[in-house]
Amino acid sequence: MTVHRNASWVLVCVVSLILAADLSGQSRGSKAISAENMKPHLRFLGAREFRGRSAPSSELDIASKYIALEAARIGLKPLMPDGSYFQNVPVEVTTVSPSRSYLRVTGPSSELRFFIPQAFTASPQGGEWAAGGGVVFVGSALNGPEPKWDDALGLDLRGKFAVILEAPPPSSGTTGQSTATGTAARTRLLREKGAIGLVTIISRERETNLTQKGLAFDITERLRFLDVDTVNPAPPPLPGTTPATAAPAPAPAPPAPFYTVQVRHEAGAAMLGVSADELGRLFDALGRNQPIEPRAVPVRLIEFSVLCDVRTRTTPNVVASLPGSDPTLKDEYVVIGSHHDHNPSREGRIFPGADDNASACVAMLEIAKAMMIERPRRSVIFVWHTAEERGLVGAYYFVQHSPVPVEKISANLNLDMITRNDPNGIYLIGSNKISSELDRSFHEMTNASVKLALDYKYEDPGEPSRFFFRSDQYPYIRYGIPGVWIFCGTTPDYHQETDIEEKADYVKMEKVTRLAYLVAMDVGNKPALLKLDLHPEIKTRGAHNMKVIWQRRPQTPP
Ligand SMILES: [Zn+2]
Repeated sequence: MTVHRNASWVLVCVVSLILAADLSGQSRGSKAISAENMKPHLRFLGAREFRGRSAPSSELDIASKYIALEAARIGLKPLMPDGSYFQNVPVEVTTVSPSRSYLRVTGPSSELRFFIPQAFTASPQGGEWAAGGGVVFVGSALNGPEPKWDDALGLDLRGKFAVILEAPPPSSGTTGQSTATGTAARTRLLREKGAIGLVTIISRERETNLTQKGLAFDITERLRFLDVDTVNPAPPPLPGTTPATAAPAPAPAPPAPFYTVQVRHEAGAAMLGVSADELGRLFDALGRNQPIEPRAVPVRLIEFSVLCDVRTRTTPNVVASLPGSDPTLKDEYVVIGSHHDHNPSREGRIFPGADDNASACVAMLEIAKAMMIERPRRSVIFVWHTAEERGLVGAYYFVQHSPVPVEKISANLNLDMITRNDPNGIYLIGSNKISSELDRSFHEMTNASVKLALDYKYEDPGEPSRFFFRSDQYPYIRYGIPGVWIFCGTTPDYHQETDIEEKADYVKMEKVTRLAYLVAMDVGNKPALLKLDLHPEIKTRGAHNMKVIWQRRPQTPP
């Protein structure tokens, strides 16, 4: 009896020691995670000087180089076959050519030429085009959310460009939605009336901004990412609807071309045949909501020639690895990811993207440092993805050109926006979709450490904001890899100039980073890859899961 009791006591001691060793081992790394370490990195990567780190851009290339240098300094290894930290994603960039495009305005006794981007801008989405025609000044006839054209006006729009004044920014109470609806309805109406295009003279606010800052229009880009498949499968037809095998309806005749451009005030005044002062008075009237009579502008002809430049360049995923400590399990992987890109500046407005998503880029460096103290059995791959804001392109590219077999990736932890909102909670999206072990790990680790409440408000693919589809865990999930987005939620600063480092809650950032570290350690140390036990169609990892349909629309209650 005594012996037995002693044996039990010894057993309890041994188990306790093993557990203590395990937890203290994890906590040595965990303890090393500190907000103070992260601040300088976030101040740097979240700085305005990166001009929004858009993909592709030189500024994002510089940010990528900084991340790779830091990864090397920490001791992470390059993983790409060429021995570098950069997985270069090719992209074809189309821009409207400044040197070969022009606008010509011919009046009764003058001919003026204007150029991109100083005087006008056209989207490269429309490709190359050339068109000329007369001018109808639409005045305020088409303002409002439901524009109407009164034929009693007697103005013939056929073969002409309609010229409008851009309304001031919508006042509070007017939603962006209704403005967009009004713009679409206006375009539809003008097309029906036979107009060949719409020329918008930009608002006085924009004109003043460009003048004061000495700026031209932005040169916008059309991007076509190469060697990457981001296409979503079509959902199956609903019962009772036309089967997919029915003969396709004849294709409708292509609509007549319709061209859309924006011009600055000098070119706008020339088109309308008015002075700068007269144009100013028209904007005054618009600002006071006074009606402005539409009128044809006689003996004026405008001609556009819009040509495009096309070039191929690359934008990098930064990829680094920490080899696992177990000789067998090191050939399996946990991928910790974030995106380092954000959005391009617009007319001098810069969107620093400190929370979205310099924050998680920095957290990953801190996790890597902690893992140098306590290495998991599996290898960990750190991927700073490019072009998330362009449609999760870098993450798709990574899973489709992975330097390791995707079947060997146990899980993907995606950190995207982690420094704002509830200091005591965090949203999880995707953790409970493919593997119950992933979700369970979050519960166990948060309860044992930071006590962040796990919030599932956005986890359902049918949730109206559709966050499930909106960050880099989704391409991994589409490959059947258990993936989760660790997310603090949006704020009024989301994608705005005010998403700045000064607003980061570093206490929360530290907690989230510690939780992600602990879950990565836990998944990295498990005896096997995470079990795929939650989705009836996903039994193995790999590209074949791309055909699985994730519910995209809000589910109606039964
Ligand atoms: Zn983001």
